[in-house]
Amino acid sequence: MITAEQKPLDEIREMIAPYKRILVLGCGSCVAECAAGGEKETGMLASILRMAAKMEGREVLINEKTLERQCVKDFVILLDDIIQDYDALLSLGCGAGVQAVGDCFPEIPIIPALNTEFLGETKDQGLWLENCLGCGDCKLYHFGGICPLARCSKHLLNGPCGGSVGGKCEINPEIPCAWQLIIDRVEQQGGFERLEGIFPPKDWSKKQGLGPRRIIREDQQR
Ligand code: SF4
Ligand code: SF4
Repeated sequence: MITAEQKPLDEIREMIAPYKRILVLGCGSCVAECAAGGEKETGMLASILRMAAKMEGREVLINEKTLERQCVKDFVILLDDIIQDYDALLSLGCGAGVQAVGDCFPEIPIIPALNTEFLGETKDQGLWLENCLGCGDCKLYHFGGICPLARCSKHLLNGPCGGSVGGKCEINPEIPCAWQLIIDRVEQQGGFERLEGIFPPKDWSKKQGLGPRRIIREDQQR
């Protein structure tokens, strides 16, 4: 999933200051899972903003709504009937959601309430970890299901740097050495031969040097 964190309140308040009718728009998917922009967080942010406006004696309409997904047009069009009631949208979607909603309603300013962070997993309650860089050429089978691009501090593809002590990363001793994890996992699976080849450096130019990446599936098109 995509993870995100709420922006500082002062930054949000500064961006919404010019507007009088604001729809605070949550997203019920990834950002709900990481407790940044789901229905609960959207309601809380809207309440705080309403209270702050009241204390300042400002007359502002602040309503809230949460879409199942802001990054899917089929859900965004559910705003068609109410969008004219607002002069700004404050989105608690990830960067993709903010842009998808903005593309559907280009006449209305859209303000991000979150800082989008990384692709990761919910590791524990209140703990999210980055574990994929979206490289477009997944080699997890070879690495025992542990991504060295995302989880090794030096993004090494062909074995450890040699600085690990006690299974911890030399760059950040608070995290495990990804290569220690990879080697332990591959050994557990009896699959060391998967690591025998040389993995060439990632050719990011093919993936990220040609503008936004796309996936086109004709079988999914209507
Ligand atoms: S190799 Fe790593 S960065 Fe690339 S797709 Fe797989 S998990 Fe993501
Ligand atoms: S100690 Fe391990 S995780 Fe840290 S940079 Fe070296 S190989 Fe990567």
